[in-house]
Amino acid sequence: MGIDHLRDPRLNKGLAFTLEERQALGIHGLQPARFKTMEEQLELCKISVERYQEDLNKYLYLTELSDRNEKLFYRLLAENVEQLMPIVYTPTVGLACQRFGLIYRRPRGLFITINDRGHVYDVIKNWPEPNVRAVCVTDGERILGLGDLGASGMGIPIGKLALYTALAGIKPHQCLPIMLDVGTNNQKLLEDPTYIGLRQKRVTGPEYDDFVDEFMQAVVRRYGQNTLIQFEDFGNHNAFRFLDKYRGQYCTFNDDIQGTASVVVAGLLACKRITQRNMAENKFMFLGAGEAAIGIADLLVKAMQAEGVPVKDAREKIWMMDIDGLLAKGRPEGRLEGHKTFYAKEHEPIKDLKTIIGEIKPSVLIGASAVSGAFTSDILKLMGSFNDIPIIFALSNPTSKAECTAEDAYTNTEGRCIFASGSPFPPVQYNGVTYKTGQGNNAYIFPGIALGVITTGMYHIREEVFLLAAQTVADNVKEEHLKHGSVYPSLSDVREVSMQIATRICQYAYEKGLASIYPEPGDKRSHVESCMYSFHYEPSLPATYAWPKLPDVKL
Ligand code: NAP
Ligand code: MN
Repeated sequence: MGIDHLRDPRLNKGLAFTLEERQALGIHGLQPARFKTMEEQLELCKISVERYQEDLNKYLYLTELSDRNEKLFYRLLAENVEQLMPIVYTPTVGLACQRFGLIYRRPRGLFITINDRGHVYDVIKNWPEPNVRAVCVTDGERILGLGDLGASGMGIPIGKLALYTALAGIKPHQCLPIMLDVGTNNQKLLEDPTYIGLRQKRVTGPEYDDFVDEFMQAVVRRYGQNTLIQFEDFGNHNAFRFLDKYRGQYCTFNDDIQGTASVVVAGLLACKRITQRNMAENKFMFLGAGEAAIGIADLLVKAMQAEGVPVKDAREKIWMMDIDGLLAKGRPEGRLEGHKTFYAKEHEPIKDLKTIIGEIKPSVLIGASAVSGAFTSDILKLMGSFNDIPIIFALSNPTSKAECTAEDAYTNTEGRCIFASGSPFPPVQYNGVTYKTGQGNNAYIFPGIALGVITTGMYHIREEVFLLAAQTVADNVKEEHLKHGSVYPSLSDVREVSMQIATRICQYAYEKGLASIYPEPGDKRSHVESCMYSFHYEPSLPATYAWPKLPDVKL
């Protein structure tokens, strides 16, 4: 029992146990004589991470730390967001997924396979935590920009939920990462002896849909209707289908679609402070019409509606191009479906981005196509020729896939553009000015949204929530950031941003009658704070107290 305090990562404090705790728990002598503060331990962790040259080894060190001392891991991550987020999340988590079978050591999260159909609830019941509030689920079909990684995609829900805790203080025992293993179409993995998933092609069609339905029902049956279920890295077609199907029925969102939309709209709202133009005074050109681009376009329409513009007019301002060229009405059957139809224009088919830009003269150019270098210097110069302040967002990840670099954007527009990207770029020197561009990182958004949703017990997540989150991020961009060319807050402020997003959502939820946690808390910010994880050690011994002297009993 006492020994659990050294073995259980949730209880372990290492050398931070006091003498009294060591003696009372019966673990005295099992550790050296030294007593350390948590701050001293954190210093040692930082040195340890830096000793590793390879990012994947840093990732493994951090995984090992969270298996050994959970509080130390989360506090380290929370206090070193800028340095460590690229290790536990993109890009290193991608590497970890690609080598998942090789580096797999301890189980983490739930693996539910298509063979478990009819028994999904029983598998979920095996999860040892009774009070899960947030699930992050993937089927591994489109992991980051890496494609189908099957069950090796489990690294993603694990990494996302680590950020729930580190960036928004959601308690670790309330988070559950889940892999729905329905096979993989990745031939290399199927032939890889280290692969840890089902060795079969993906199951699709009604069998797959029924399985996901059963999964949703099982989560709710086990943990309640208002359990947050975040969909992550599903294939494009399934991502949109499930979002449309489940959003009114479950407490769910898709980060690739809605989280991305929110963070990009945040950047565009911050641009308003530089251009002094309303959202609806812009014309938007998108390269790409996938999960990210369509999500952004849909939320932009909401943002313009909030300015009083009718939906139809708002959609008119958004032009999009996919692999077949401009979204134009009358494209061949099957090549214009779903939300793409909202943005199709009366226009003859055209495939050349530069020609269309020359014709419609957009003020905002957004790349979410994963086509490296698609924003050529000609295109960027053209954007600069009819805009005083052209807005250029090259969102494709990783850096090698970006539509243009930060340097391309500044040099081709005489330093006049506002630039943002999906992957970080180093500062650019141009004409004696240093530009530190911002990164439209979803991590500004999803942890705060999750915190707001969980602390109000909302049953559904309306689209307005993503607009509220976007506005909150935009409000946190400081003048000095704008001056240096960034339309995002600094990553070291992301915990405060999450807190503000959750507080705004909390206000909204009670105002609209969407909350299910009653009585309504008076001060929303304190309510949110009271639900959060403590990153500090707590005493391992219960408080004891004396009783008054009892009268002697005379027999
Ligand atoms: P997706 O659903 O596969 O969408 C890709 C889109 O690009 C599709 O519409 C595709 O056309 C289009 N496309 C592909 N090749 C093209 C070409 N040569 N010319 C024009 N369009 C082309 O992927 P996604 O999830 O939207 O992600 C797209 C990119 O955005 C990725 O690189 C991702 O890393 C990045 N992203 C960034 C952030 C961020 O910055 N926070 C967040 C999410 C995603 P079809 O529709 O015809 O297939
Ligand atoms: Mn994703």
